[in-house]
Formats: sequence, structure tokens, C-alpha cells
Amino acid sequence: MGKKGILTVISGFSGAGKGTIMKELVKKYPYFLSVSATTRPPREGETDGEDYFFHTREEFERMIAAGELIEYAEYVGNYYGTPKAAVEKQLRDGKDVLLEIEMQGGMLVKEQFPDALLLFVAPPSAEILKARLNGRGTESVEEIEKRLQRASEEVTYMKSYDYIIVNNELEKAVEQVHSIIVNEHCRTGYCTELITMMESELTQFAKGD
Ligand code: 5GP
Repeated sequence: MGKKGILTVISGFSGAGKGTIMKELVKKYPYFLSVSATTRPPREGETDGEDYFFHTREEFERMIAAGELIEYAEYVGNYYGTPKAAVEKQLRDGKDVLLEIEMQGGMLVKEQFPDALLLFVAPPSAEILKARLNGRGTESVEEIEKRLQRASEEVTYMKSYDYIIVNNELEKAVEQVHSIIVNEHCRTGYCTELITMMESELTQFAKGD
């Protein structure tokens, strides 16, 4: 068995800037960023298969029934889910995989993959979150209200995450996420091959070989 990849879930309130952190991370480092399936209509500039796999509700429900998703959740009236096959293949091939998903999905991933690393991206304050949502201009006023309402419910999940990344400065947040994952590779559980090799070689030395 080769080296296992690490599965990292990155969640945060809408507008916390996790999407931007993800884009920078995959530009700089060889992570596999999972592309989710959704029933939300594409936003201006979004491409099917790159930003999301865009589906009808019927198609999405077929994927649920066929067990093709690791997890799924409804977020502000639309389904979002993580395709299983691609993620499992990348992890088997030893690649580190990033899932940018909301918190209910994050909890479901942790149940199925207890070794998953859970990172939460937070804005420096709620005021800044609201200003960022207003400033990006991709959602209507009602949509922004819904997302802020959702954030007020989601705040309870913060404690369940392993690390909180305060997104004050993009470059710093990107490096923090990367170093947490790099350090995770040093966990004993990810070094079983090295341990086995050491045991075997040192036993040989002790015998005088
Ligand atoms: P947006 O509509 O802004 O692209 O995404 C809305 C929310 O859905 C974000 O919090 C995003 O992280 C989350 N999301 C995206 N893909 C998935 C997924 O596959 N599963 C779950 N549970 N949430 C997702």
C-alpha cells in the first residue's frame, strides 16, 4: 500500500472567502479540489465541470439514490453534494483532497472518514462578513439575507472543527491551511510504512546483520 492522501474539509460562512483560499491553494500546491454537484443555477462566469457539476433536481436525486455521493445537503433551497468516485480514487493514489463544503456535509464526511481534517474559515468579524457579501455583488439582497440567517445557525458548528482559520489576509490564510495539512502528514497514523520499515531494519541490525 502506498502513502494515503489526506482528506481535508474546508467550511465557513458564505462570504468568508474560502473559495478564494481554495483557488490559491490549488494554484500553488498539488491538491485535488473536489468538484461538487449542485442544483443551484450557474453564476456568471461559472463553468460546468470546473466550478460545479450543474444538475436538475431529478438528476441529483438519482445520484443520491445510486449512492454516488459521499454526502449532500440542502443549502438555501438547493442541493449540494460531493461525488464519491473521484475523491476515493485520489485518496487511494496518495493525493491530498480538499472539499469545500458547508457544515452539515462536513459532519457527515467526518462520520465516514474519521481521519478527515476539518478546517473552518472565519471572517475577522460578523460586520466584515456582511460587508463582503454585499461587496461581491453576486447575490440579491434577499439571497444575502438568507445567507446571513444561515450563518447565524451555522455558528454552532465552529466548535466541531479541528482548526479555525481567520481570513484577514489571503496569503496568510493560504499558508496556514497548507501548513496544517503538511503537518498532518507527520501523524503516526500516516507513517505506518516508515514505522514498519524501521522495525524490520532495526531488528536486522540488532541481530548483527
Ligand atoms: P455557493 O452557492 O456559494 O457556491 O455554495 C453555497 C454553500 O454550499 C457553500 O457553503 C459551499 O461550501 C457549500 N457546498 C458546495 N459544495 C458542497 C457539497 O458538495 N456539499 C455540501 N454539503 N456543501 C457544499
